[in-house]
Amino acid sequence: MAGPLKAEVVIARCAKTKKTYGIRVEQRKNDWIRTWAFPIDEKKAKHEGFDANTVSGSMKATDDFPGCPHCKAMGFVLCSCKKIGCDGGIIKNLYNCPWCGNRYELQAAENFNISGGGY
Ligand SMILES: [Zn+2]
Ligand SMILES: [Zn+2]
Repeated sequence: MAGPLKAEVVIARCAKTKKTYGIRVEQRKNDWIRTWAFPIDEKKAKHEGFDANTVSGSMKATDDFPGCPHCKAMGFVLCSCKKIGCDGGIIKNLYNCPWCGNRYELQAAENFNISGGGY
């Protein structure tokens, strides 16, 4: 492997169960990709400072990315409230944000700017 690996954890919530989890993201070239996901307590996430992490990129998943640890959904949605939820609870393209409660129709996005902060 060449060079030091840059990795962060960003916080997400399961849209189906509303439980929190962390997504481990790794910088590859100029992109950020998702490599791992694990359940985490919201308090602990905040304590670790994960809620303040900011990444931007395609956020593609690696082949061994396990998906949402609560409902196994592979995808995720970035809400206009700048928080991530898994796409497990989507019915007919309607996403219900597990953070702010917004409900809206999904649109495909190529790039994401993710920042945490205050919940
Ligand atoms: Zn989920
Ligand atoms: Zn939201």
